[in-house]
Amino acid sequence: MTDLIVIGGGLAGSEAAYQAAARGLKVKLYEMRPLSQTGAHQTQDLAELVCSNSLGSNLPDRASGLLKNEVRLLGSMLLECAESAALPAGGALAVDRELFARLVTERIESHPNIEIVREEVKAIPPGLCIIASGPLTSPALSQSLASLSSEEHLFFFDAIAPIIHADSINMEIAFRASRYGTGEQDEGDYINCPLNKEEYYAFVAALLAAERIELRAFEEAIKSGVKAGHFFEGCLPIEIIAERGLDSLAFGPMRPVGLRDPRTGRRPYAVVQLRQDNLLGSLYNLVGFQTNLKYPEQKRVLGMIPGLESAEFLRYGQMHRNTFIASPKLLRPTLQHIQREDLFFAGQITGVEGYMGNIATGLLAGLNAARLVHQAEPIILPQTTMLGSLCHYITHADLKDFQPMKANFGILPALEETGKAGKRERGKMYAERALADLSFTLSRLNERSEVEA
Ligand SMILES: Cc1cc2nc3c(=O)[nH]c(=O)nc-3n(C[C@H](O)[C@H](O)[C@H](O)COP(=O)(O)OP(=O)(O)OC[C@H]3O[C@@H](n4cnc5c(N)ncnc54)[C@H](O)[C@@H]3O)c2cc1C
Repeated sequence: MTDLIVIGGGLAGSEAAYQAAARGLKVKLYEMRPLSQTGAHQTQDLAELVCSNSLGSNLPDRASGLLKNEVRLLGSMLLECAESAALPAGGALAVDRELFARLVTERIESHPNIEIVREEVKAIPPGLCIIASGPLTSPALSQSLASLSSEEHLFFFDAIAPIIHADSINMEIAFRASRYGTGEQDEGDYINCPLNKEEYYAFVAALLAAERIELRAFEEAIKSGVKAGHFFEGCLPIEIIAERGLDSLAFGPMRPVGLRDPRTGRRPYAVVQLRQDNLLGSLYNLVGFQTNLKYPEQKRVLGMIPGLESAEFLRYGQMHRNTFIASPKLLRPTLQHIQREDLFFAGQITGVEGYMGNIATGLLAGLNAARLVHQAEPIILPQTTMLGSLCHYITHADLKDFQPMKANFGILPALEETGKAGKRERGKMYAERALADLSFTLSRLNERSEVEA
């Protein structure tokens, strides 16, 4: 007898299967590799890291460090394996990727409640199920997801624009304004970085000469245009637009129409617009600036934009196939589908980005699936916790601009009293509040399960 089906033996699916099995559920974990490939994975191991071997900061006052501490409190199996496979990496948790995947695979294979099935799932099955098939979900399952949610609620983004910290923008040069003064805020909704003719052509030349991340085989299709995703023409990388003509960007995402630089009173030759990215206003994304340059090149070339000389990046631009559902419309913060309480989603497919976030949502989905079987209320974590806040973000964000989000302090509710606290001090305060609230929630749940028992 099977209590739970988990689709995808990646980061989220492995953690989810383990958490549910540890709570007594009989789990079938479906993984399509090695029979079908994703194009990015190289092995048949579970929990293979497809790119970097770093799970991000381990420092308690950093966003990713806080997420790790929360997941530690919740008893993550994958984090335990990562710590056993850790390499020296300063304040970060970097792992020997082969050892890490092997340890996870062994823990899953040896669990008496888990059966691994090496098979592609082509349609959403009936009954209790967690879908954790990742950003490279197989085409057949993607189709099935599309029909569940209707096509417009499934996104295939091929390229994403960088996000930077607002306090790293030089407002001596950049200015607030909306095109033709039509914004909602008096001073304008956008931050604008103006370029004169020389600056613009120097930027385009550097962009064209900059090193790009090599496209893998599965991404080759993207080069050929629209076929790779619904919105591809609408989110072409800037270096590809620049290849079409030296002035293409000035007529495209860098067009200056409707804007005047208050320092000169004139229209700039070109403009880079930045749009607020979180409620707090601490993060801004570069509008239309999808890019596939190597990360150090992004820092260097985008640093040539006046006002962004010292820009600090929360996320660099990236390009890859990325399948994720319209969580703001489809999911509850418990990670259940809004109409089917026995259908859970976890990992990158929910719009939570980054290895640790994927592991964390897998953990919550596994735990909540087990609670459903045991007739206990699924958990909604407090919004003050990083995991609770990520789940809140993906289920409440504005669908129009919904983009994957990774752990960061910008999505947490503001602290009540910060006084003159600096960035690190504030990080520490966020972390203390989050861990206290999580411990309180968990202790209450334990009391409740004793009562239920
Ligand atoms: C090219 C690329 C590079 C990335 N680099 C980084 C990085 O450096 N750092 C970072 O933090 N994040 C990175 N990410 C984002 C993300 O963190 C990782 O993709 C992460 O592995 C996602 O975890 P997941 O569990 O959601 O999916 P995955 O780890 O991809 O696991 C999903 C699993 O489901 C399987 N599967 C898919 N469809 C089916 C099906 N129909 N039936 C059965 N099995 C199926 C796949 O084979 C896979 O094993 C990257 C993503 C991509 C695509």
